[in-house]
Amino acid sequence: MSCKLLGLCQYETNKLVRIQSVRLGSLKWSLNALILLCICLMMLWNRKYQEVDLVVSSVTTKLKGVAASTLPGLGEVLWDVVDYSGPAQEKNSFFVVTNVIITNNQKQGKCAEDPQSGRACRSDKDCEKGFWDQHSHGVQTGACVNFDVGSKTCEVSAWCPVEARRKPPRPALLAAAENFTVLIKNNIRFPAFNFIRRNILPQMSDSFLRRCSRSSEPLCPVFRLGDVVREAGESFADMAVEGGVIAVQINWDCDLDRLTERCLPKYSFRRLDEKQSNRTLHPGLNLRFARYRTASGVELRTLYKAFGIRFDVMVFGQAGRFSWIQLIIYIGSTLSYYALTTVFIDWLIGTSCYSAEARQNYGARKVEDVHDRQQVILSVSFVDENHVRLVKKPQRKSLQHARAIGTQQRKEDAGHLSAMSAVLQRGISLEPPPTASPGTSQTPKSSPGPDRRPRAPAWCSCGSCSSSDLRQEELCCRRSRGPCIASSPLFEQLVLSRPLLEAVLLYRDPLEPLEARGGRTAALRHCAYEQLVRWRFGAPAPDRRPALPRCCVGRIRAEFPSPDGRYRGLRPTRVEPTRPCSNGMT
Ligand code: ZN
Ligand code: ZN
Repeated sequence: MSCKLLGLCQYETNKLVRIQSVRLGSLKWSLNALILLCICLMMLWNRKYQEVDLVVSSVTTKLKGVAASTLPGLGEVLWDVVDYSGPAQEKNSFFVVTNVIITNNQKQGKCAEDPQSGRACRSDKDCEKGFWDQHSHGVQTGACVNFDVGSKTCEVSAWCPVEARRKPPRPALLAAAENFTVLIKNNIRFPAFNFIRRNILPQMSDSFLRRCSRSSEPLCPVFRLGDVVREAGESFADMAVEGGVIAVQINWDCDLDRLTERCLPKYSFRRLDEKQSNRTLHPGLNLRFARYRTASGVELRTLYKAFGIRFDVMVFGQAGRFSWIQLIIYIGSTLSYYALTTVFIDWLIGTSCYSAEARQNYGARKVEDVHDRQQVILSVSFVDENHVRLVKKPQRKSLQHARAIGTQQRKEDAGHLSAMSAVLQRGISLEPPPTASPGTSQTPKSSPGPDRRPRAPAWCSCGSCSSSDLRQEELCCRRSRGPCIASSPLFEQLVLSRPLLEAVLLYRDPLEPLEARGGRTAALRHCAYEQLVRWRFGAPAPDRRPALPRCCVGRIRAEFPSPDGRYRGLRPTRVEPTRPCSNGMT
């Protein structure tokens, strides 16, 4: 019992429509096979069956090379790696000096400021003692002195003489660094698989490392700087002037499955900083350092403004190994692609590839219209119209004048029709209708006498309807003026004939005692309503509620009156097709 309440004893499944068609069937299987093929290819190509882990790595570099060059102020100088690689070594990167501005023999003292950094002056009044800003080489003393023959600048207390040159020399003074080589050592680890590897592979010997080059051996871990810059799409000579940043990317894409084991590094290079030096502010890369010495008790220094290329080594990578869980997750995630077949074929059926009849046939079998309970759809059948109107429950207008939201062809209930004709042929119709209740008029033609209702309401066209307080009850049997359906002889025979209604009741419950049947006026009244519905509307649609004309309802109620004279009236509920004698009327 409780499991029924909770819905635990139930299982719902979808209802399907099967279209018997060779064309659609073969199209479906072809599309499904295509989807399966795509899924399998994607799985193998992207190794979707593998569990993956990201790389953890460390990088060290060893730069080698030596070059002789002539530096202004210093003459012929031999630069080796210690001089070239600059003062600072950063993590996962190395720096190579390629150009330099040298200011020789600086010492602490007072001298004229460089005009580009300080302010020009005419007299001491133009200078302010103790002043400095971001561009100054020193602190102003307050004096105005000659910088050169034509110009005067404020004197500063600084390392003198101040650095005067701004633009780096072109061509670069140390462009010979192009031929330097670097050995990159990269150790990686995939923690999830406890897998360790090095970019210097086990088969590489010391002599191999000495002679290998990237052009002949793609896995050679020794790189010539000129080659690196060229592979990044740059010219070393141009880049050497102002400096820049180059990324050395090492990508490890490892397949650790036993049969296809493959785990080798792939090197690629690209420039990271802004290439267009004439369009950007502060292009390139430079830094300053100094070398100090003492000459006859005075400390002197040589200031180097070094331009250079920084090489950043970046390591990416992932490793994968077969995993049943990943395979099942991947298969599950691809199942939804098969729905594309349904979407495509449904779309195809809706297009002009199919005739309108075929489309309508598929549509009617596939889609079942159910209306919202809040919006009761009433069906209205006028004697002088062939179709059934569909009307929303009216709020302000009478139902007689409510706008139709659609029409429907009347569906003849063949079983009912043949049963009725059989009953009528048996001669029941020939009997005069018994005058059971006192309030009923005698002759069928003039039953709801206009003498008792002298004025029919404005919405009535047959002249036999009584007024009602409810809008949804204000419905006549016809649209245009004319005789009332309740006055037709067939109405008497089909709807009001007591022997026929009793026969119907007996047909449903053959063993019901006669006396109980005789007293059931209400049951007869309900059956009369149903007879009227079957006659006028045919087989009832489950979500439409047939609306009965006021004249007919009045006629039936007069024939089979309720003892207390109360009727519930038309109630906006759905017709239950399984309960034959109820259609919402009492
Ligand atoms: Zn009427
Ligand atoms: Zn009428």
